Amino acid sequence: MDRENPVPAVQILQASKSFAGGVTALRELSLEVQQGERVVIIGPSGSGKSTLLRCLAGLEPVDAGRILIEGVPLDEKTRRKIGMVFQSFNLFPHLTVLDNLNLAQRLVQKKSLAEATAASLELLARVNMPDKARSLPGELSGGQQQRVAIARALALKPRIMLFDEVTSALDPEMIGEVLSVIRDLAQAGMTMLVVTHEMAFARELGERVIFMEQGEVIETGDSKSFFARPREARTRDFLSRIL
Ligand code: ADP
Ligand code: MG
Repeated sequence: MDRENPVPAVQILQASKSFAGGVTALRELSLEVQQGERVVIIGPSGSGKSTLLRCLAGLEPVDAGRILIEGVPLDEKTRRKIGMVFQSFNLFPHLTVLDNLNLAQRLVQKKSLAEATAASLELLARVNMPDKARSLPGELSGGQQQRVAIARALALKPRIMLFDEVTSALDPEMIGEVLSVIRDLAQAGMTMLVVTHEMAFARELGERVIFMEQGEVIETGDSKSFFARPREARTRDFLSRIL
């Protein structure tokens, strides 16, 4: 994608988010992501990583602060620039892979069946599943279903992709095939924010790593120095527990 484009892909300005029951998931969190940048977000369970991505995708409103996508406030229109993939694949079980991929293109983009199908088949090839168009999700492995979910997000031509622990529900032997698809997207220059527990992958993929705790960004740094020389005691403590 377009690294010369000076408008940041994402600007989060002092975003706060609380839930009923008094949990503060985001505390005046600010974050800027440049066009084509790959940011990996790590942090303990409950630190607000998913909330951050969900707010960014427009799935939940923030209570305070602002979110800009390519310089424009997040709304019904700009949120279409964002694709999100979750830990659970959320495919429609009664629809074939092809129909799962066609659905949003038909409804949101108003494509003809032929147009949508052509794009879907191309996407299936891109996630290395050219021969599964007629399968039902239940006939696929977890890794294959997750790759369909990635293809489905890509079908709407997002400018920014969000991945929230997309390998956490997978058997170990299927993690690689999903990470490989994300790696290909990164190589193609897609702007992405990736929440992951896979530290080797975080190290490899992330240009920038962000460590979150209790709704705040505790430390951010380029991937190499972040893992080699974390500055904050809380980051060192977290890394020592998971590495
Ligand atoms: P992470 O993804 O880092 O594990 P989350 O963003 O899921 O963290 O959660 C951050 C905090 O917000 C946690 O304390 C969690 O229990 C709380 N939380 C998240 N979603 C909701 C919700 N829909 N209702 C109430 N509390 C929530
Ligand atoms: Mg989460």
